[in-house]
Amino acid sequence: MHIAELDVTTLERGRKEACLLDISQRPEGGWWQLPLLTATGTEPGPTLVVFAAVHGDEFEGVEAIHRIAAKVSPAELRGALLMVPVCNVAAYATATRNSPVDGLNLARVFPGSENGTLTQQIAHWLTVKLISAADLFIDLHSAGVVGDIPTLVGYVHSDDDTGRRSLAAARVFGAPVLWGHPPPVPPGRTLSAALDLGVPCLYTEAPGAGRARPQDVDCFARGVLNVMRHLDMLLEEPETAPPPLHLLGDGNMDEVMSAPVASYFRPRVELLEEVKTGQLVGTLHDPLGATLAELHAENDGIVIMRRGLHRVHGGDGLIHLTGRAEES
Ligand SMILES: [Zn+2]
Repeated sequence: MHIAELDVTTLERGRKEACLLDISQRPEGGWWQLPLLTATGTEPGPTLVVFAAVHGDEFEGVEAIHRIAAKVSPAELRGALLMVPVCNVAAYATATRNSPVDGLNLARVFPGSENGTLTQQIAHWLTVKLISAADLFIDLHSAGVVGDIPTLVGYVHSDDDTGRRSLAAARVFGAPVLWGHPPPVPPGRTLSAALDLGVPCLYTEAPGAGRARPQDVDCFARGVLNVMRHLDMLLEEPETAPPPLHLLGDGNMDEVMSAPVASYFRPRVELLEEVKTGQLVGTLHDPLGATLAELHAENDGIVIMRRGLHRVHGGDGLIHLTGRAEES
């Protein structure tokens, strides 16, 4: 089926399905296809939409989605669970953040374009067919091959109905770190598309590194199931988790402390370490061993991202600091 023909509001109740949707023609013939897993309850209820591999080098969510699908039974479900385990199919094939077909970052082109490049078309169809149908939306990311980020659930911290519903779901998700971002959300993201449609939303991060660590897959699968319990899609109480470290700050990883020069990077701080203004947080070295630059914290903060990939080009993001939320 072509994704244009998909109507998730008319899915038959009490079914669990897996299908590949044609999304864009390939030049050599055939189609780029998007995998979709659906579970519909025998009873009506909310629609939860979950994405993974919006970046093609982030694998925890792919595995978590399959674990969630195996656990959910239509007889015990209210509403609909719609999950796309691989969103950027071309980037997934090459295990890269961006698409090898058009070079685009899927998480920067939402809400996309029906007549655009492959990545823009994927964003378009994901927005109009799935995100727009959601009562709540979860985007399962991790730090991928390049970054290193603690396992966390993120949300947009705003004092309106969408913000309150997002925070409530983020709390119940149960990740060890809860990271809120004051609006506005930078454009092009899945979350900006969701918020433009008034859909409460969450996303995740994890250390990544091209792996799918079992503890992160567990965290993401348990988190999505907890949100389903919270939404009364499953008639059980959410599993309780220890209180999270609640952080607040800009989540735009496109604007972080960056490399002044091509080199290799040696971080001098750990994830979630508290650093002071002026503290040495990393050093940059050339292949002969010379130290080319030192990186010092520009403000006090908690390390929420540090570069994981050793080699850097000038301008590559290296370290990001954030703050603690006032209440926890
Ligand atoms: Zn990502």
